[in-house]
Order: sequence, then C-alpha cells, then structure tokens
Amino acid sequence: MSRIFDASWQRTNLCGKFTESDAGQEVRANGWVRARRDLGGIIFIEIWDWTGLIQIVFNPEAGEIHKLAASLRNEDCIAVKGKMRIRPEGTENPEIKTGNIEIVASDFLILSKSKPLPFEVGDATENVDENIRLKYRYLDMRREKMQYNMRTRAKINAFTRKFLGDRDFVELETPMLTKATPEGARDYLVPSRVNPGTFYALPQSPQLFKQILMISGFDRYYQIARCFRDEDLRADRQPEFTQIDIEMSYIVEEDIMKLIEDYMKGLFKEILNVEIPTPFLRLQYWDAMDKYGSDKPDLRINLELCDVAEAFKNSGFEPFKKILAAGGVVRGLRLPGGANLSRKEIMDLEARAIKLGLSGLANFLYKDGEIKGPLVKFLSSDEVNKVKELSGLEPGDAIFLAAHESRAKACEILGTLRLELGKKSEKFFNNSPNNWKFLWVTRFPLLEWNKDENRWEAMHHPFTSPVLDEDPYMMENDPANALARAYDCVLNGNEVGGGSIRIHDPEVQARVFKRLNITPEEAKRRFGFFLEALSYGTPPHGGLALGVDRLVMLLCGGNSIRDVMAFPKTQKAQCLLSGAPDEVEQARLDELKINVEVDE
Ligand code: ASP
Repeated sequence: MSRIFDASWQRTNLCGKFTESDAGQEVRANGWVRARRDLGGIIFIEIWDWTGLIQIVFNPEAGEIHKLAASLRNEDCIAVKGKMRIRPEGTENPEIKTGNIEIVASDFLILSKSKPLPFEVGDATENVDENIRLKYRYLDMRREKMQYNMRTRAKINAFTRKFLGDRDFVELETPMLTKATPEGARDYLVPSRVNPGTFYALPQSPQLFKQILMISGFDRYYQIARCFRDEDLRADRQPEFTQIDIEMSYIVEEDIMKLIEDYMKGLFKEILNVEIPTPFLRLQYWDAMDKYGSDKPDLRINLELCDVAEAFKNSGFEPFKKILAAGGVVRGLRLPGGANLSRKEIMDLEARAIKLGLSGLANFLYKDGEIKGPLVKFLSSDEVNKVKELSGLEPGDAIFLAAHESRAKACEILGTLRLELGKKSEKFFNNSPNNWKFLWVTRFPLLEWNKDENRWEAMHHPFTSPVLDEDPYMMENDPANALARAYDCVLNGNEVGGGSIRIHDPEVQARVFKRLNITPEEAKRRFGFFLEALSYGTPPHGGLALGVDRLVMLLCGGNSIRDVMAFPKTQKAQCLLSGAPDEVEQARLDELKINVEVDE
C-alpha cells in the first residue's frame, strides 16, 4: 500500500460533511489533528478541516498504527482510511455536526508533522494576543470563525461581481503604479529603477482613472480595488484596504443611492437572509449633525440633540450669552430618566465633555416636580420653561448642554456623549444582531478649513461637484457654507461608503482648484493628464466607493477589520508574518540611486 499521498489517500469527503448515511462505508478523511484522548487503550482523535471535525478511533488491535497514533500531536496533518460507524450509545457528542459518527481507522499516514504550537489552535485562539496571532496567521486562520470570515468575504465579492455585472457594469483594473490621487492621505511611493529619481505613487483610490473611464465611454465601471494610504493609523485603519469602486455616467445622486440600496438589500438577503427596508433614510449633513452630533449617526440609539439657544440669548448666564453673541450655539442632549444619575456619574460626564473640548457641561435635572441645576439661578422661570419646551424635557429627565463657538464642535461633543450614554443602556440602544440601520448623509460641506496650513481643503476630494443650483458662486462668496454633491452611506454608525457627483466642467474644476489654493501650474503638474481629458466632452458622472473590509466586518459580526483580512498589518503598518517593511540590500538601493539616512 502506498505510503505517499496519492489518490488512494485522498479524502472521500470533507471532515464536517460526513453523515450517518456513510455508516458502514469504507471512507478516507484528510485534516489536522485537533484533539487526542486515550481511553482504556483506545485512542480517539478528532481531525479538522474548514467544514468541521470528524472523530477517528484507533483500537489497540490495529497494532502499528495504534502505536503511531499515540504519537500524534495537535495540528499534525494526516490522512486516514477506515470504516465509518455510528458511535456506540452514550458516546455521542451533540456539540459537533458529526457527533453521532466516527471512523474506525484501518490505516493512516502522517502527511506532515507540526512543530510545537505557539498557541492552542481552535475556538480558544480568539483569546490569544493579537500580535502572536498575526505572526502565526496561518494557524490563526485554521479555525472556524476565521474561515467563516474569509469565506464570507469571498461570497460578498462574488455577489458584488454578479450584481454589478448583471447591471452592465464593466469590471476594469486601473494601475497600481501611478501618479498621486488626492484623498487626503500621504502616498506610498515606489521608486522607478528605469527612471532614476522618479517615483510612482500607489493609488489612494482609482478616482481619476475611473473618471477618465467615464470620459472613455465605459458608462458604468466597477472594480474591487486595493487602495493604499500612508496615514498614522487610527484605530481600525489599514495602510492597504479594499473598496468596491463604482462610477456611472449621465446620473444624479438618486441613481447611485438606488443602486446601492438594491445592492445592500440583495447582499444582506444573500449573506444573512435578512430583509433590509429601502429606500434608506436621507439626511442632509447639517441635519445629521444637529440631530445626532455625527455625520455617521448610529440610528440604533434613540437619543437626540436639540437646540436650546433661544433660552439663553438674553439670559443672565453670561458665558452662554457671549458664545451666542459671537455666532456660537448652545445645544442639548436630553437623557430620559437621567435625573436619577448620581453626582459622580454627572461629574464623570462633565469631565468627559471637557476632555472632548468643552469648557464645561451644564445640566438640568427635572426632579421632584421642578427643574434643578447650577444654571437655574441665572435664568428666569420663562427661560427655564423654554429649555423644557425646546428639549421636550419630562419629569425624571436630564439634559446636558454644550455651548461652543463652533456649531460642528458642540454637536460633535454631544454626539460622542450620545453614543457613550446610549450604548450603556438597553433602553436607548437596540443592539439586537439584526438591527441594521442604514441611512444616507448628503450635502456635505464642500470645504474644510485647515488651520495649520491656513487654507481651505476639500472635505471629500477636489473633484467633487459643488452644489451649484442655489448660489453658483457660494464657494467664492461664502466658502464655509458651500455644499458638495457628496453622499455617504452609513450603517449602524459606520461609514460603509462615500462618493459624489463629480465636476464635469473644466471651468468649475479650475474654480475649485483656485479655492483650494492650487495654482494652475500646480494643477497642471499634478493632474494635467486628467484636466486635459476633462476637456474632451465629459459626460456628467458620479460614483462612490464602498469599504469592503468594514462591510465584511459588519456582516460577520466582527469588531475589527483585521479579523476579516487574511494578512492585515499592525497599527505600526507592519506585517508580523512576513516582517514587512524591511531593509533592502545596498545593491538594490544603488540601482535606484537612493541614499538612505536613518536617524538612530
Ligand atoms: N474615491 C473616493 C474615496 O476613495 C470615493 C468616491 O468618491 O467614489 O473615498
């Protein structure tokens, strides 16, 4: 009998796919050893593949192979031959799919031994330090949850291709070695050997190429595209990540939104078998900020912000009055039942608000039939009533107030408290697994003021069309209030996608560059190829990109995008498995005419 792995050892089924109907059959199984027990001379092992476990029994009568089985260790890779049987009564294992059956081994082959393991492989791996898991990613992925995540990711990609392909979208690849596309991050640069002293940039997104594809007549494009951004990694970002990148011609916002709603509906049905109601709620950016204090509101939380400025405008409370007079805002977060919070809880909240950037967090508590709070003495009873009326304060409630010169800042801080307070209590937060709250946030500000560089920056990217139908010269006349035809798709507090209607008129594009302090020379140097293309009859177009990693994470019920990427990097952008990034030989640097100086 052959002692090498040939067809005679190949599995007759996957481990988890054997069933009771195989009982009595000669079968073969291949997999990794997961557990070994010796019971009264009989050796039981379980072997694993991505479909599950199957138990193998080695009876002492089996002689040599019984002895050899005693030497098996977890994660040895083996092939087994034997007869399937129903497990004797009382020995069934209801925990596993194949718990009623087992293979009585007649022969087996050790295909490959495993070194002693750095950690136990299986469900328990979840609790192992992540850096160790990343170093031994191949072992980490040899478990059910990771297999589920990766296979779900593949299913999502397959669904995406089918969905978009069925709708006449053309899948096209755009270059990885390219020129910088601005998405607000640093570029990863790749030196060119044949053109010393010059560099490619890895794409932050295929933005300019996909727009050029519209100019080329492709009409409907998509790509499951890898993007690279050299950022200081904030929580749960990756230097390389994947987007479903989409662009369409002759469309308006509604077309993209409808497409993505249909896509999400189909996807959630396919992957989770849940019905997602469409159309999604649409909220303009400032409405989302005013109501939820976020441009990606988590609608699973039923707390809202309110505007209480009216009560303080002429009040005796000078600090708020001053802020209002300077064009600032006073906003409130009403917490139903919040009058019961302890002094310590209220002080902790205030400390949190100060950390977030407020100078204090005033409160009113509606308790024992009256409204109490440190500011009451500065207000007339009409003004106190105004707070009540504007916030809908009811007996037993609390309201927390934020005053700030910046409307966005006041809203954001209360928005953070809304999330933190909301998530603490089931009363405010419906965290049931299939509570999917989608919405569109639209009409973002076009521009953001960059304090450090003293100039306006594009909030989305410089190719986003301004809203031109109200005041076409808003970006020149009142840049802070100019709006963009941009939209984000938000799910349970996560931005899962974002895009915009683009500028298709070279003149408008030139005005935006001017607004951003990009001189015509600089625009030509950086995007000349694109601007040239734009001037050959560009159709109106727009698109968006969906973040695959985040979407997969949400669909898999994970906490981190790293858990849905096969080989993610750490917060320091390192691959612990391969050791990248790494130094290179001097000869390679010489070829590239690169001198490296590293400060010790
Ligand atoms: N290129 C944009 C991004 O990567 C998405 C888009 O506007 O389509 O965020």
